[in-house]
Amino acid sequence: MGLDVLSLRVAFVITAVIMAALFYFISFRSTRSAYSRWWCLSLVLFLAGSSGFLLNGTDHQVWANPAGNTLTVAGCVLAWAAARSLRTTVRPLRLGAVPVLVTLAAAVAGDPAHDTWSGGAVFLLCMASLFAVIATDLWRLDRGDPEAAARWLAVLAALSSVFYVGRCGGFLAWGPHSDRFQTWFGSQPTILLNLVFLIAVCFTMSALSTEQSLRDLQRRATHDALTGLLNRDGFERLATAELARLRRSRSSGSLLLADLDQFKAINDTQGHAVGDEALRRFAEVCMRVGRSTDLIARYGGEEFAVLLPGADLDRAAEAAGRVADALRRTTLSVGIAMPTVSWGIVAIDPDRTLEELLLAADQALYDAKQQGRDRVVRR
Ligand code: GH3
Ligand code: MG
Ligand code: MG
Repeated sequence: MGLDVLSLRVAFVITAVIMAALFYFISFRSTRSAYSRWWCLSLVLFLAGSSGFLLNGTDHQVWANPAGNTLTVAGCVLAWAAARSLRTTVRPLRLGAVPVLVTLAAAVAGDPAHDTWSGGAVFLLCMASLFAVIATDLWRLDRGDPEAAARWLAVLAALSSVFYVGRCGGFLAWGPHSDRFQTWFGSQPTILLNLVFLIAVCFTMSALSTEQSLRDLQRRATHDALTGLLNRDGFERLATAELARLRRSRSSGSLLLADLDQFKAINDTQGHAVGDEALRRFAEVCMRVGRSTDLIARYGGEEFAVLLPGADLDRAAEAAGRVADALRRTTLSVGIAMPTVSWGIVAIDPDRTLEELLLAADQALYDAKQQGRDRVVRR
């Protein structure tokens, strides 16, 4: 193929500029997700790196060529950060500095003024390794994470890694100026492949970051930020669906309302932060004692709602007792005991609405308070 390298590089840079701009305005500005931020920065570095290679063959090659290698590797590190941000907040930047610095050192240590492949083997090896870790990170995403698009990206990253391993092998075995290397792994096939990857990756990234921010919004709308439990809205939605399911299957279930006793006193004597800690500890204990099918929510300030599918009143009272026991063994960071809890429990009657059941549980809870707190009252 008689495609000249300079034209290909110019086409690549133009495409990357358009993709970066589109990605920034369409995806990042609307989602503001960590993921699209890293990917935007990564595109900018790829772009800067490719621009560096445009100066090959000029007087500027001596600095532009090592800069091109280094910025391209740095772009890959940020693409890794983007992939990571999908499942964890840990940023691989510190570790990512290693391939960047090694690439720079190898390029400068060679003869960058005359050799456009100065430090080439190290550069290719770093690219192959980075694409491999990106592929692994994307492939390892949990089932709850945006899946299909991530799998596609993982495959693309793995193919890139294989290609760079091939390039590195070809570079070492045949030398960068051999015909075989030029045909299979030279600048033309590389830039063409990068172009295809760039476009495919941009579209999948865009789908992923929209998916990620949608999930984020959905979670924030249905969960309580302090405890991580469902909030009132999230609970009512899921509980209504669960009630309908119980009604259809004619199964039993219980609804519990819990209220921490004399909670205001903790805030007043120990401060709001200790009050917050008590709320978090209560949530942790409930989640530890509960089953995965239970719906547990922070219903209001220091009031919690729990729906136990399949549990009759005895089992529900037993579960409340286990939570109360675990709380008695818990101390807060300032060394004081956790507040006790009062419970109002009702059996789920298929003919009553969620609103009616909540009202009945609230009346039972009121009775528990009236009877001296730290107890379970059933209705
Ligand atoms: P009772 O045993 O009758 O339930 O008494 P109480 O003190 O627990 O109930 P009261 O309704 O008088 O006080 C509830 C307190 O919960 C008042 C409010 O400031 C506090 N509260 C509500 N939300 C939060 C929160 O998010 N964090 C903290 N630290 N306190 C909260
Ligand atoms: Mg209270
Ligand atoms: Mg209350």
